[in-house]
Parts: sequence; C-alpha cells; structure tokens
Amino acid sequence: MSLNPDLKNELRIHIVGAGMGGMGCALALAKQGFTNLHVWESAREIGEVGAGINITPNLSRILDRWGVLDIARSEAVALDGASVLNCARDEVLTSVNFEYIEKEFGYPFYVVHRSALQKSLVTGATNSGVVELHLGQQVTDWDFENSKFRVKGRASGRPTEGVESQANGDTTESEGHWVEADLILAADGVKSKARTAMLARKGEADHVEDTGQAAYRIIVKRSMINEDPELLPFFTGSHSYRWIGERRHIIAYPIASHDLFNMSSAHPDRRFVEADTWTASGSKQEMLDMFSDFCPRVQKLLKLVPEGDVLEWKLRVHAPLSHWVDGNTALVGDACHPTLPHLAQGAAQAVEDAAVLGVVLGKIRSKDDIHRALLVYQALRKPRADWAVLTAANNGKGLHLSSGAAQEARDSAFRTAEREGGENPDKAIDQTTQRILYAHDCAKEADEKFDELLKTAL
Ligand SMILES: Cc1cc2nc3c(=O)[nH]c(=O)nc-3n(C[C@H](O)[C@H](O)[C@H](O)COP(=O)(O)OP(=O)(O)OC[C@H]3O[C@@H](n4cnc5c(N)ncnc54)[C@H](O)[C@@H]3O)c2cc1C
Repeated sequence: MSLNPDLKNELRIHIVGAGMGGMGCALALAKQGFTNLHVWESAREIGEVGAGINITPNLSRILDRWGVLDIARSEAVALDGASVLNCARDEVLTSVNFEYIEKEFGYPFYVVHRSALQKSLVTGATNSGVVELHLGQQVTDWDFENSKFRVKGRASGRPTEGVESQANGDTTESEGHWVEADLILAADGVKSKARTAMLARKGEADHVEDTGQAAYRIIVKRSMINEDPELLPFFTGSHSYRWIGERRHIIAYPIASHDLFNMSSAHPDRRFVEADTWTASGSKQEMLDMFSDFCPRVQKLLKLVPEGDVLEWKLRVHAPLSHWVDGNTALVGDACHPTLPHLAQGAAQAVEDAAVLGVVLGKIRSKDDIHRALLVYQALRKPRADWAVLTAANNGKGLHLSSGAAQEARDSAFRTAEREGGENPDKAIDQTTQRILYAHDCAKEADEKFDELLKTAL
C-alpha cells in the first residue's frame, strides 16, 4: 500500500525548525518522493553552533540509509571505549571496551561536532532539490484546527516566494503571514511553542521542569595544549571520559578528527542561570570554582579555555506529554521529548522520529489518512522516546550521588561490571541499555507495524 504518486507532489508539507529533527524530517520525506517540502527556521543562518554530539548506531543506521552518514563520518571520531572516573582521585571506576558495538550493531559509537551531523542532514535535504529552506522566519502562532501557522520574517517580514499565504492574511512585517499546509511537523526544540499551544487546546499546562542543573560546554583545541604529554592522549586517543562527583560530572571526548577535546558538564544551577540557549556565555572563574575539587588533569584542561569561550545553560526536561499530534500537525524531537544529555540520545531520538515519519507518511493513500498516520507515528515513537528521557534522568541521579552507602554500592557495581560484565551503573555505557537503544531499527519496525497500528489509530 503506498501513496498515490500525484499526492506526493501535491501535499504541502511544512516543517518548523531546521535542527536535527526538522532537517531529518525534510530528508526522510524527500527520500520518500514528496516534492513540496518547506522548512521554516528562525535563525538567519545555519551556523556551526554547538559542541560534541553522539552518533550512536541507531542514528548511523538511519543516516546510512539516507546516504549521508559519510558526510558526518568524515570528521568523526569512532570511540574505542569509555571510562568513568572518580573526579577527585582521577581513579578509573570502570572502563568499557566499545569494540563489541560495531560487531553487534553494525556501526561504531561516533562522536562529532554538532555541525558535522547538521551538515549531513542539511546537505542531504537540500541536495534532494525538493526542500526549500526559509531562514530568519519565526513561527509565532499555531492554528492546528485549520492546519496553518503564522510566520514573521525576522529580516523582511515578507512572505517567501512559492509559499501560499492565506488569502486574507496579513503580510506586513509586524503581523507576519499565515502559511497553510496539508501536514505540519513542529520540530521547534526544547522551548517549543507548538507544544505549549497543542497542550493548551486540551487545557493542559506546558510544564518544562527546571532540573536544578546547568551545563558548561567547553572546547579545548589541540593547538592550546602545547603537546603537553599529560593531555596529549585525550586528543590522540579515541576514548570518552566521565569524571563523576557529588551532584556534578564532566564528560569529555575528542571530536573534529581529534583536533578538539569536547568537555561538557552537569552541575547544580547555583545562580539560576537565566540563559537556556546553547550560546549563552558563562563565567570562567565560576566554572573553575565549581570544579576546584576535580583532579589536576581536568583543572589543567579547564584553565586552558579562553575567557569568553565558556558557555553555560540550564538543563531542562519535560514530563511525558499526553499527546504529540493535533489534527494534521505532529511534534518532533526535543519539542515532544526534551531530554537530559546523560544518555547521549537527544539527536538520535529526534532523527528516529523523522525516519518513522518518513515511513508512515510514505504509506498513506490520501490526504484523509494523514492524521491517522501521525497517530501511528506517535504510537511507535512515544513509548521509546519517553523511556529514553526517563532513563537519562535516572542516570544523572545515579552518577551524582553524594558520599555514603549508596555511592559505595554504586562504585562497587562499577568495578563488578568491568570485571564480570554485570549491569553498569552508568546507563550510557551499560550493555543492556545500549542493546535497547542501538539494536533498534525504527524504520523497519514502522514498516512492519504500520498496517496493524493504522487499524486502531483513531
Ligand atoms: C544552537 C543549538 C546548539 C546545540 N548544541 C548542542 C551540542 O553541542 N550538543 C548536544 O548534544 N546537543 C546540542 N543541541 C541540542 C540538540 O541538537 C538537540 O537536542 C537534538 O538534536 C534534538 O533536535 P531538535 O531538532 O528536536 O531540536 P533543535 O536541534 O534544538 O532544533 C530546533 C530548531 O527549531 C528552531 N526554532 C525554534 N523555535 C522556532 C520558531 N518559533 N520558528 C522557527 N524556528 C524555530 C531553532 O532555532 C532550532 O534550529 C543544540 C541545539 C541547538 C538549537
């Protein structure tokens, strides 16, 4: 059963947000043969924003099928393993060899600069020739009932050529214009306004939870270390390090073909960090104070970061949503399952959403099927994404224990895991958790279960 070919050209598909979820959707739908695809993005350009991001095998599998894995892989580092260390003593609590990952799941555990992953998705989507990117365009209002949204050009405010506006809609800079669609995919990130509007229609409040944690994102360039023999292995090796302590940790690994050492932390949000963007400046001195009891190697690295290059932002999560779909609009990625970074699945889960949307929408036969296909997407994706969010949150709690019996039991479990291969307290490197995440082929599952799920999608 597949879509009437004429409909593939006819369907007006509008995607909001050109992040991983949004560009993933554009690429997935282009690969399915849809030709009327628009992506609306508030940023004026798609820049090299961000730091390290993980490409785990479940994500590689999708990128490979789309033919864009090599773009991200050209700058990637394939990790050979990961260690968890006591932050003060610099003592290894557990180490895991990642050799089995490629053998078992077909792809290694890659780490890249976020821009490399974004480049692969954007290049794939734009090279398809059917995706139109509208940059500098902020979506301000949602009308799910009539499948449309209002967008304001941050630069000109004028409607973009080739996109229908509502006949009586406004097109002035101050009011923006309405865009009508047959299908809307809202991939507008952790601070999603689409989510707020969708929940409000059912009288539900949009409770983004402040986790009380903030994060620093720090990048050390190899050129900064002056070939210091103590730090060099961080760059020349292919290993991930997680130094853990009470209510804090730092995870670090090389990226960008070993030129950069990416370090990101989780720590108490002492000063109620206002900024919840990925680009907000933090104070270097506050960062050094926060980790002053960490081992000398870590402190040496932190001191190398130039003043002004320390970025800090709030870590936020959201309780599982009651629904992701309203009419012919669906939420995608962080908009519907914002997650803590402690399981390394933010981008992977957003792109899994996109891959599943590609499969289910590729199977519909008429416009009337869109809503039910979106419900199938929700049924396939929500349990898994909600589980990943919960697992990431719990993982943070386990890693941040204060000294005492629970911490001693955890550290002993770390050692047993390495020696005897039992359950690893760090779920990001625990084999059972990795199997659930990495073995999953979301597109295959969507293909196999679509007909059955469609029958009950009402
Ligand atoms: C600038 C930036 C840097 C990041 N850096 C890292 C990093 O270093 N490491 C890491 O692990 N994760 C990073 N992330 C988060 C990570 O990319 C996402 O958690 C994950 O990939 C999920 O993707 P997403 O598409 O759901 O959301 P995002 O990648 O957050 O994308 C959402 C997009 O929607 C756009 N948008 C939001 N509201 C509107 C609106 N009203 N109208 C139009 N467009 C809108 C945003 O500008 C953004 O481009 C970053 C995200 C961003 C936006």
